[in-house]
Amino acid sequence: MSDDLDALIRSLFALPESIAGEPVTGLPAPAEVREQLRSRYDFARPVPLEQAAMDVAGMLRRWSTHVTHPRYFGNFNPSVAVSGIVAETMVAAFNPQLAVWSHAPAAVEIEEHALAFLMRKLGLDPGAGAAHFASGGSEANHTAVLAALTERYPEYGTRGLAALGARPRLYASAEAHESFEKIAHATGIGREAVRRVATDAGGRLSVPALAEAVAADRAAGWEPCIVVATAGSTAVGAVDPLPALADLCARERLWLHADAAWGGSCVMSPRLRPILAGIERADSVTWDAHKWLSVPMGAGMFFAARRRPVAEAFRTRTGYMPESPEGTVDPYVASLQWSRRFIGLKVFLLLAEEGEEALARRIEHQAAMGDLLRTRLAERGWRIENDTPLPLVCFTWPGWKGSAGRALAAAANVVGRGRAWISAVLRPDGARWLRACITSFRTTPEDVAILLDEVDRER
Ligand SMILES: *Cc1c(COP(=O)(O)O)cnc(C)c1O
Repeated sequence: MSDDLDALIRSLFALPESIAGEPVTGLPAPAEVREQLRSRYDFARPVPLEQAAMDVAGMLRRWSTHVTHPRYFGNFNPSVAVSGIVAETMVAAFNPQLAVWSHAPAAVEIEEHALAFLMRKLGLDPGAGAAHFASGGSEANHTAVLAALTERYPEYGTRGLAALGARPRLYASAEAHESFEKIAHATGIGREAVRRVATDAGGRLSVPALAEAVAADRAAGWEPCIVVATAGSTAVGAVDPLPALADLCARERLWLHADAAWGGSCVMSPRLRPILAGIERADSVTWDAHKWLSVPMGAGMFFAARRRPVAEAFRTRTGYMPESPEGTVDPYVASLQWSRRFIGLKVFLLLAEEGEEALARRIEHQAAMGDLLRTRLAERGWRIENDTPLPLVCFTWPGWKGSAGRALAAAANVVGRGRAWISAVLRPDGARWLRACITSFRTTPEDVAILLDEVDRER
């Protein structure tokens, strides 16, 4: 390898640390980026790898919102542990094919080993259930709906919903992730089948409202089928009441899916585990390692309490895929993907390097930084708008008197100065709240202090 390439790769491994000294975001005009690409890459004339790679690294540095920055207080995009960069490099070099066990025995078993550990943390039984890595939470949610429909309607996969005359209904709170709209479209239940249920003032799905909706739908010819419990909603960090939802689902014979894409990582900490009490009663769970577990994207994880509907949903047979030994499962007949990269190595290496106790401390540190931010904001007179034990704080300045424009402008000004990244989240009533989430395990009290200074300038 040339010295230049060697130096570049060293700088990439140092990036998780060095990025803290740079602006959080760089937002160029589209024409500026396109002009650089047009002028340097016509793909007729080859560019030496060192040169192209260094050029791209420079573009990424200047023209990215650096989600790994300790003052990126944005959506659930984490800093990455160095183990994740090591893992992704190894995956690219070996390029194992995880369609069948027999092509990638080490890789498939490494994934299953890590998933069984995490599944037990959720309180689900790896011996009875199924688990696999996915591209992200969206794919995992899609898988949950497929599995639920397959269990409820054994002929869904062969004859299709229309032939069965079924009108299954999916319930999710008004705060639930929008991926379910796309999933309803893709699975054939249709977007109208997604019934958004009212929440309480804290953004948590209202169980009485759900019970009413289920009864009304049954009377109107719908077939209540799936309830999505969001454990850590994207906008406000709400955790739906899992035990009460599990009771209702058991009574009404509905599939309970816990979308814990971000919040799922609480199960790693004995102190935070009670926030997710009841998740062990879910029929399926979505949990993204690329959110609070701080591995690079994408590393979605899907867990199901029972193996059967998952195996049925993805069953197929080919004449060209090599056979695997007894007692193994080929990933291509157990999940949506076919040719699949070794997603789980970064999770395995993280668990191996850290160990569960250090990881629990890391999760708790982020929760503590969220508590610190919330406390300090309140002390300075900001109004805290959301109600969650998770490290996500929504806030407004009382003097803004509900002006959505003030919050939008404040977020834009903070982002524009480049020292921190926050957003102004739109609420169903048209209000805007400043939103700051602790997404980096490298965020320190000093970083929180800088954010406080930045937002105080906008009061
Ligand atoms: C992020 C998120 C998703 C979507 O997951 P991706 O990994 O982005 O596909 C779904 N639900 C919730 C609650 C999320 O936070």
